[in-house]
Amino acid sequence: MVAQSPKKIHLPKTSESESLQKIRHTASHVMAMAVQKLFPKAQVTIGPWIENGFYYDFDSPEPFTEKDLKAIKKEMAKIIRRQLPVIREQVSREEAEQRIKAIAEPYKLEILNDIKEEPITIYHLGDQWWDLCAGPHLESTSQLNPDAIALESVAGAYWRGDETKAQLQRIYGTAWESPEQLVEYQRRKEEALRRDHRKIGKELGLFIFSDLVGPGLPLWTPKGTVLRSTLESFLQKEQLKRGYLPVVTPHIARVDLFKMSGHWQKYHEDMFPMMAESQDAKEHEQGFVMKPMNCPFHIQIYKSELRSYRELPMRLAEFGTVYRYEQSGELGGLTRVRGFTVDDSHLFVTPEQLDDEFLKVVDLILSVFESLRLKNFKARLSFRDPDSDKYIGSDDAWEKAQGAIRRAVETLGMNYFEGIGEAAFYGPKLDFIFQDALDREWQLGTVQVDYNLPERFDLEYVADDGTRKRPVMIHRAPFGSLERLIGILIEEYAGDFPVWLAPLQVRLLAVGDEFLPFAKQVVEQMQAIGIRAEVDLSGDRLGKLIRNAEKDKIPVMGVVGAKEVESNSLSIRARIRNEAGNIQSQDVGSLSVAEVLERLKQANETHGNF
Ligand SMILES: [Zn+2]
Ligand SMILES: [Zn+2]
Repeated sequence: MVAQSPKKIHLPKTSESESLQKIRHTASHVMAMAVQKLFPKAQVTIGPWIENGFYYDFDSPEPFTEKDLKAIKKEMAKIIRRQLPVIREQVSREEAEQRIKAIAEPYKLEILNDIKEEPITIYHLGDQWWDLCAGPHLESTSQLNPDAIALESVAGAYWRGDETKAQLQRIYGTAWESPEQLVEYQRRKEEALRRDHRKIGKELGLFIFSDLVGPGLPLWTPKGTVLRSTLESFLQKEQLKRGYLPVVTPHIARVDLFKMSGHWQKYHEDMFPMMAESQDAKEHEQGFVMKPMNCPFHIQIYKSELRSYRELPMRLAEFGTVYRYEQSGELGGLTRVRGFTVDDSHLFVTPEQLDDEFLKVVDLILSVFESLRLKNFKARLSFRDPDSDKYIGSDDAWEKAQGAIRRAVETLGMNYFEGIGEAAFYGPKLDFIFQDALDREWQLGTVQVDYNLPERFDLEYVADDGTRKRPVMIHRAPFGSLERLIGILIEEYAGDFPVWLAPLQVRLLAVGDEFLPFAKQVVEQMQAIGIRAEVDLSGDRLGKLIRNAEKDKIPVMGVVGAKEVESNSLSIRARIRNEAGNIQSQDVGSLSVAEVLERLKQANETHGNF
């Protein structure tokens, strides 16, 4: 593919743009009319607009083919050119029923039965075609641009999403204001496919899924494990510098622990079913559950001794694996899984220490993002929805906690917005929302202020005046979870990891077998200083060795021949980002082995380039 320079076209989102909604609604009707013109036996069911386009579900005896889609698209262009007015009509329920019976479309009758209001709204395209619809639409088909519409795919669907009901065919389409927007949308879609972490993860051999293990439960291969542990030790090191104390806690616990924390009451549905020794135990909710969160465990460690104000802030940290019973339909790749590892920490602080500790946590998160080269993010103040009852704790505690978060972002002058209703059930959060090269948003790190769990677990410390006081908790996870972060990083880097993160950093390519001993000896020198290096032992010719190393996206390749052996050097090719933002391997030239070692060491320490 030819490298394209990144274009700056803003794609409006359907949710923001009423005009896009109208375009897509109208385009979907035009498509349905075209389908019924070409396939008179096809029956129309539902056809809403969606985030990037629209779809319609049809009951049709023959599955639609690629060729059919082309014909439908052509017919749509004809309808558009006929400049049919889009006419809104309101009729009584009886009248609607009559008209549906006249065209013999039973699905419409079912849809009509679901519409509670009267009169019933009908939309006509000219006097040719109509459907039940609440709108809104354009005024005429002429306002659609056939060159800004594409029909994308056909998929099976069931009437009302119910497998026992009729099998339907869903045609997906996309429609925009201009052909330029369509092209940009298609470019992004293709780019998203190219960067898809599920595809790249497989190609690079980082993780697998197994049907026998179960959906949403990734298994990490040796390469993926290197990537994970590199991330873990990086953060571990940063945390130790900042006074965090590592802990390890079990994966299961008594239900009682989660009753006390409130997870059992508020979070039950997302937890794996309880393991109980007997039916009786089960009925009395006397069993064990997989942990959905690490907090209550760290609280037990805090509570195991009477703490003094001198010990605070106490920052307990764990790469804690948790389990959540996500619906299997929601699972896909690493961004939504059933078992994942949180770079979790709980800070127990005095109320006076809260603001300062919160700022320090944000500072840590920002420095982590910098090392990971994640630049484009904003902060969301995830507050509670005052009208909902899904939260625990007093109004006063919530006010205090939300106030602390607001003060922090204001002090730091961060770019932020408010997300009402996005809080955890026990406290508000500051979430970092990362926007990738394709304008997609991902939630990464999070910090939460919590006055509620200390209350529920009756946490205390002895203050300097000898009285017992209640600490405040901060929950935080800069990565969010290792699984999610790695999924996002794979997509952001399109599989081209910076040197410090690459599972394999260097591969040496010998131009002949006689140079293998030298190459092996250089690899040993590299390994001795913690560089992940190997020699390609396949015996292939140089061209193939280079192509394979490129395919494996190895950041540094060192070619070894007679000249290199003689001068104790390596002929280096490195993967370097070009102006268009694409990574390609380029000749760096001949460097002494000592120089290569030094550069690799530097790249590891500073997280910079080779
Ligand atoms: Zn409509
Ligand atoms: Zn927590």
